[in-house]
Amino acid sequence: MKKPIALVVEDESNILRFVRANLRASGFEVVSAMTGAEALVQFAAADPNIIVLDIMLPDFDGFDVCRHIRQVSDVPIIMITAKGEMQDIVEGLNVGADDYLRKPFAVEELLARVNAVMRRIENDFYQPSPDQIKLGSLVIDLAQRRVFINGQTTHLTPTEFKLLTYLANHVDKVVPHNQILEAIWGDEYRECTHYLRVSIGRLRQKIEADPGNPEYIVTCSGVGYMIRNLQVS
Ligand code: CA
Repeated sequence: MKKPIALVVEDESNILRFVRANLRASGFEVVSAMTGAEALVQFAAADPNIIVLDIMLPDFDGFDVCRHIRQVSDVPIIMITAKGEMQDIVEGLNVGADDYLRKPFAVEELLARVNAVMRRIENDFYQPSPDQIKLGSLVIDLAQRRVFINGQTTHLTPTEFKLLTYLANHVDKVVPHNQILEAIWGDEYRECTHYLRVSIGRLRQKIEADPGNPEYIVTCSGVGYMIRNLQVS
């Protein structure tokens, strides 16, 4: 099956990287642009299935890009607005955007909006959350708070269990460092990436066949971590 194509238009390279990594992890082929002019070129060349479009661009703004695209296409468009600018949101919807994201946004918000607009055109993006999470030979029993690897129980500290479960709830998605730190350790630890690095290392010792060459918990350099669903085939 051909992957859906996402066009991401954003001139802030850290946000662009974050969105791109997560859309790729969600199964999109991603093309990107950092200016309005580039966005129109990429739109014509790639024929994307969805567009994530920042409003503040260095040449012309996201509204103009949206207007141009709407003259020829109904492709879903999600605008990225600066925090709290209600006028931008209204104008974006007026020029034909389907939805919007306010900066700063978490991976859940991004994917929720993307999934919501994609669901309007196709119906296979949703997964319910069960009592037990099974990722290949790794099983997390949420009710009993136990973890099994190849049928053997493995002992995790409460923090490691929380961390593993948090990543598993975002399976196949790149979760940024600060988001994990905030969720597991708390707000004031957002910048304490060493906590995370150490715990990920310990977790890998316990669940990976070769901790130096991890298959489950992969590092997305400069962005965050992603746990993968290793289906036994
Ligand atoms: Ca911008």
